[in-house]
Amino acid sequence: MNLQQRDKKHIWHPLTQHQTAAPPIAIVKAKGALLWDEDGNQYIDGIASWYTAMYGHCNDLIITSVSKQLKELDQVVFTGFTHEPAVQLSERLMAILPQNQQKLFFNDNGSTAVEAGIKMALQYHYNKGEKRDTLIAFEEGFHGDTFGAMSVSGLSVYNGPFEEFFLKVIRIPTPQTEEPQELLTSVKELLATHACAAFVYEPLVQGAAGMKFHDKKGLEKLLKLFKDHEVLCIADEVMTGFGKTGKNFASEYLDIPPDIMCLSKALTAGIAAMSVTTCTQQIFNAFLDDTIAKGFFHAHTYSANPLACSAAIAGMELLTSEAIKDDRARIRNRHLEFAARVKDHPKVAEVRTLGIIFAMDLNIATDRYGMLRNQLFDHFMEKGVFLRPLGNTIYILPPFVITNRQLEQIYDAIESCLPLV
Ligand SMILES: *Cc1c(COP(=O)(O)O)cnc(C)c1O
Repeated sequence: MNLQQRDKKHIWHPLTQHQTAAPPIAIVKAKGALLWDEDGNQYIDGIASWYTAMYGHCNDLIITSVSKQLKELDQVVFTGFTHEPAVQLSERLMAILPQNQQKLFFNDNGSTAVEAGIKMALQYHYNKGEKRDTLIAFEEGFHGDTFGAMSVSGLSVYNGPFEEFFLKVIRIPTPQTEEPQELLTSVKELLATHACAAFVYEPLVQGAAGMKFHDKKGLEKLLKLFKDHEVLCIADEVMTGFGKTGKNFASEYLDIPPDIMCLSKALTAGIAAMSVTTCTQQIFNAFLDDTIAKGFFHAHTYSANPLACSAAIAGMELLTSEAIKDDRARIRNRHLEFAARVKDHPKVAEVRTLGIIFAMDLNIATDRYGMLRNQLFDHFMEKGVFLRPLGNTIYILPPFVITNRQLEQIYDAIESCLPLV
């Protein structure tokens, strides 16, 4: 039996309707921007395995860092203990995060980073003796699959059976202009009539929605409004973090920094599931008290796993290296050239790029996980390119180390699909 057949026996895959889904492709090896399956086929990882392996798969520097750590300290409880990799990671992260971020809390993945951020915000107000029970989030946002994170996510394909169990959330549209007057007016009304605790947002780019962008100035005005009403702003940078948008964090584009930030995915450079939720000193201080229950009683068993931390430290070293900075500029320029090349094609409705993110909407209507999406996926795989189109959006978010030739192969694969749609 090959891997595919053995897999079928016991494994339940994520985001999969097993009755109709094609069998999974068994990947046996990865290096740099490349993946190989068990039949020896080679694929370019055009989305860095969901935006995680940004410095390339099986990166030598990361392997060295994690191997060294594995021989020193593998795992220890993080309540009542601490260790060098966690402390060093906190120092390195704080050096590049917006300056108001001062404290760092470890979690296991993007969803739990958001979950912890929401709990921090709710308890912040609670500890201060204020009853605030409503969250605000963008329509079409995606923040993860645990209940709190799902509650603030607006993508209904995932949410159907659970909606009646959600936290109290009000969804608002993203700002599409510098002066989103209507939006600002309706938010002012919300703030007057509801007890709003926090606003959860993916800054500037909504990843799972199909790499949708919104207006920087419009978002700033919204954030200002929330700050004026002591609504804590939770930036979910799980996707946008670590250099993909052209800055280390998308929040750097904005004059108003978030109160809380959620980071994961590229944090550990594709090695391990780990996330952090960071916050301001002011939020942290609201949990200080002689009463134990005013503390933040939230924990994950593998909090700050030393191996994950050592991968993250190596990742940070790469992120801030000249080589990766050059790669990011190189990819950005290539994307811009390709955007110019395809933007007037009759099958192309819109092309947008930010940093190393490239997205293109096709001029056709289709379901998020419909037939066309599967045809496109198969077409790209046949061309040796792994991309995951979302609805009518095709996007590229490649590892920083992708070569120009590999990029060209992705662009060619995309161009070759246009006559087929
Ligand atoms: C992927 C993602 C999450 C969820 O992260 P998981 O590690 O899959 O739980 C949350 N927010 C955003 C913006 C994401 O892209």
